[in-house]
Amino acid sequence: MTLYAELHRHLGGSVVPRILWRYFQRQNPEQAGRFPEYPGFEEFYTRPRNTLDEYLELHTLVESVQTEETLPYFIYRLIRGAHIFENLAYLELRYTPYLRTSERLSQSERIDQMTQIVEIVGKASQVAEYPMVTSQILCMHSRLPYEVNKAIVDLAAQSQEYVCGVDLAGGDAHYAERLDEFIGLYQYARSLGLKTTGHLYETPDGCYPELLPYLMRIGHGIQIPLKHPELLSQLQQQGQCLEVCPTTYLKTGTLQDIRQLKVVFDRCFEAGVDIAIGTDNAGLHNVRLQFEYENLLTQDVINFKQLQACQDAAFRHAFAWPHTQDPTSLLTGLLKTEPKKTLAGKSQ
Ligand SMILES: [Zn+2]
Repeated sequence: MTLYAELHRHLGGSVVPRILWRYFQRQNPEQAGRFPEYPGFEEFYTRPRNTLDEYLELHTLVESVQTEETLPYFIYRLIRGAHIFENLAYLELRYTPYLRTSERLSQSERIDQMTQIVEIVGKASQVAEYPMVTSQILCMHSRLPYEVNKAIVDLAAQSQEYVCGVDLAGGDAHYAERLDEFIGLYQYARSLGLKTTGHLYETPDGCYPELLPYLMRIGHGIQIPLKHPELLSQLQQQGQCLEVCPTTYLKTGTLQDIRQLKVVFDRCFEAGVDIAIGTDNAGLHNVRLQFEYENLLTQDVINFKQLQACQDAAFRHAFAWPHTQDPTSLLTGLLKTEPKKTLAGKSQ
């Protein structure tokens, strides 16, 4: 039996459409009126978008309802689903805490409120009946001011009980004009001993080699093997891992066909660069982790051996997995049954 590690999942995009629709029916008359029937909502919520920016716009719909009061409601359902349907033993959940604070507050009050949000998410992720190792990655955001992003890094460093690293999100085309600022923030994060990942080389507009040295993992990074394979040996030497989330590229219009990922996997395997497969926005896509795996197999993007290599890589590159072995090898001994011995001399 295989248990999985998910390294790339956004809190905003992790709410499955039916849970969100039902929440609107119960709590939000405006959205409930907009989508009186579930199928219409599912169609709106999960349909592919033309660009990454258009796709990210949808996150604001979920962010607006994920508040201090409602976060436990959504996170409980997320952990329940991940335990029962996805066999997750390990989950890193990422989000921008500032975007869950109250818009009525001033910037500095919102920065203060982020501490509570991290605690609420941390406590809600520990569900006794659905055991799983969970940790948070706090995302800096390309559309937030420097002071807020720096406060996010500081908060990550102060909240090691709940937080295992930092990320940069918000659309990789928007980093260009503030590149030095983001380099400085990553340098600062590393100086505090934080683990780092970042949404980078996701689209052709998001290729910033200047940021690569500061990252331990690369969020997506598919444009490296696709367009800049000369960088792969550098990644291999640094022990950096790509977090590849197949469905996303079809939903954002970055790729037209999942089979285009074959080059990504082939070149990474050849160069010795690890890949962990993630869902990114499992709810928004209405796609669970196993489907990502199965789809890559049935479309001949990877074979079973390569899939297992990616599943192992996920545990090796997990920022907060506390064990030296993955859970499958721990379980195998328990589940193995000895073949029954036949009695000597008895005719078969
Ligand atoms: Zn992402």
